[in-house]
Amino acid sequence: MDAGLNTGCATEGAGRRVVIAGGGYAGTTLAVKLAKAMRPDDDLEIMLIEPNPCQQALSELDLVAVGPPRPEFCELWHPTVFKDLPVTVCYDRVDDVRAKEHVVLVGPRDGEKREVGYWRLVIATGAIAFVPPVPGLAEHAVTMWSVADAQELQRRIEAQFRIAARLPDAASRRRALTFVVVGGGATGIEIVGTLGQMLPKRMRSFGLDPADLRVVLVEGRPDILYDLPQSLREKAKRRLARLSVELRLGSMVSAVEDGLLKLADGSVIDAPVLVFCGGAKADPDAIGWGLEADPSGRLVSGPDLKVPGHDDVYAVGDVAAFRDPADNRTLPMLAQFAIREAEHLAESILREARGEPPEPFHPHMHGEFVSIGPSWGVGWALRWHLTGLPAIVMKRLTYALYWWIVGGIPLAWRRTREMLAMQR
Ligand SMILES: Cc1cc2nc3c(=O)[nH]c(=O)nc-3n(C[C@H](O)[C@H](O)[C@H](O)COP(=O)(O)OP(=O)(O)OC[C@H]3O[C@@H](n4cnc5c(N)ncnc54)[C@H](O)[C@@H]3O)c2cc1C
Repeated sequence: MDAGLNTGCATEGAGRRVVIAGGGYAGTTLAVKLAKAMRPDDDLEIMLIEPNPCQQALSELDLVAVGPPRPEFCELWHPTVFKDLPVTVCYDRVDDVRAKEHVVLVGPRDGEKREVGYWRLVIATGAIAFVPPVPGLAEHAVTMWSVADAQELQRRIEAQFRIAARLPDAASRRRALTFVVVGGGATGIEIVGTLGQMLPKRMRSFGLDPADLRVVLVEGRPDILYDLPQSLREKAKRRLARLSVELRLGSMVSAVEDGLLKLADGSVIDAPVLVFCGGAKADPDAIGWGLEADPSGRLVSGPDLKVPGHDDVYAVGDVAAFRDPADNRTLPMLAQFAIREAEHLAESILREARGEPPEPFHPHMHGEFVSIGPSWGVGWALRWHLTGLPAIVMKRLTYALYWWIVGGIPLAWRRTREMLAMQR
């Protein structure tokens, strides 16, 4: 751990300590909003518990994987964001929750733990990639849920470039340069689109001919991007066709072995590099903390974002299953909901500190954008459907909004410049 980091994991009795487990989109937004809005007479102490000093740039993993190599890629650095705010950041992990005693246990999985008491506890520990029990899949595929995953994909891509550069015949080069993505949701489409757009350029820099490249998307359902309207899905497919991405829709994966992807219909695809983007599941540790979970393993989050049966415990973001009262459907795992839940929760905690009850949360989806390659997107906002450059601009603006919420203009400006540099 960097000696310069504030590692203030105080264990003394809490007055009105708000403990936030997890410093991703939800936890960071909540800590910033609460710190900025609280008054001295609210008598609140904010403690954010997060093992990493850097919030990973999950929504830019495609650029990390296919773009020029760089050591790390951060959405933001917590020590910078919290340097002037009354937030104690404890760079550690929550190991357990003892809700009856109003304490969390903090410390490494196999090491000594410290008790930290809370007045309010917010669980915002996110999600991890889910890989179904298909033979060979977990062993051979790269998932896409962390910068480490994206760097692993980058390593495998470059290894294949080096192998292909030594192969004399075009057929074996094409086999070595086949990249397969499984999963036609937003994550899979963003990865496959970036592979389709950026790999030809990267291949040239390795002395390879882009004509030898093959990029394949495999999806079990008959279509892609089910969250988008039909007309936008068609545009997305036309864009993928222009990038020469082969679509294998309605194809279930049955096994992976020896660089081959086997499909349930008996066909086989060369897959020396395989990316699995078939789903995510809530932080599995949180399930063991004795709180109510839904059948998918997400912690149940009631109308006011409280965990049922615990008046002082909230769950927000990907780890939480919040049902939208408008249609009774559980909110999808999206940063935009994690951020909005956190903003609402900051108000609720302040209301409670001032003796008022929290208000129910009413989510609204204002839009959704998916990039297909770094310079083209598809999506909607309010009642407008957008494609191409306007859609990608809208998508990047949503990131800039987050950076502005947590770090003001300096962070928004710096991160925007970094992102533009990655796309070159
Ligand atoms: C490749 C990819 C692309 C995406 N693109 C988009 C997009 O374009 N738009 C969009 O809206 N959403 C997108 N998402 C989804 C979005 O990233 C998530 O919905 C969002 O990260 C959820 O925020 P969160 O705060 O709940 O969890 P996270 O941001 O994952 O943060 C969870 C934090 O909890 C910490 N943590 C975990 N366990 C513990 C513990 N025991 N103790 C303490 N801390 C812990 C973790 O270190 C992490 O920092 C994308 C996701 C991926 C993987």
